[in-house]
Amino acid sequence: MNVLVVEDDALLGNGLLRVLEQSGYTATLASDGNGAQAAMGAGDFDLVLLDLGLPDIDGLEILRGLRRQRRTIPVLVLTARDGVEQRVAALDAGADDYLEKPFDLRELEARVRALLRRSHVMFGQEARLGPLTVNPYAHEARIDGELLAVPAREFEVLEVLIMNAGKVVTKARIAQRLTASNDDIGDNAVEVYVHRLRRRLGPHGLTIRTVRGAGYVIESA
Ligand code: CA
Repeated sequence: MNVLVVEDDALLGNGLLRVLEQSGYTATLASDGNGAQAAMGAGDFDLVLLDLGLPDIDGLEILRGLRRQRRTIPVLVLTARDGVEQRVAALDAGADDYLEKPFDLRELEARVRALLRRSHVMFGQEARLGPLTVNPYAHEARIDGELLAVPAREFEVLEVLIMNAGKVVTKARIAQRLTASNDDIGDNAVEVYVHRLRRRLGPHGLTIRTVRGAGYVIESA
């Protein structure tokens, strides 16, 4: 998960970065509005933490610009204490949530988790097994929140296995999933992809067990 932190207070900004990284996220800091817009144009973020009081561009303007581009990325706004009007304006401009400064870092972490969970649910059912999460809609596999590169056909095999985690999936069923998108697969294609997935997932404590004469089952150690 990539989080963009937009905060001009260096002490707070770096503190947020540290907390997010400790929680397993990849975090990038932008210290003003121009930096934030450049980062959003260049990178792919799952969440933005946005301070409204920035030295160059009003945080609300950045938020409105993002929504004008129809970008649905979740935005958590950081506002001043008792800034009721600011909070209302932020929500009207398309903020997903807000936190009043000063805030407890545990609360920040909880809000970040909730927003990311919500945005992923919107994009379709996400399957989870141990450190692995698979989002079929986004075509993403992640280990502890970090993207794991999985080639297309292997991903299809992984998808069938994890959607049935703990249950035996027959070889025919996997082959069926593969032929749905590729008309030309060899006899041992399933074995080849399962073999590659084992090597890819093994280091993360995930195993694909062969059940003799029946099929495969994915498990977490
Ligand atoms: Ca500020």
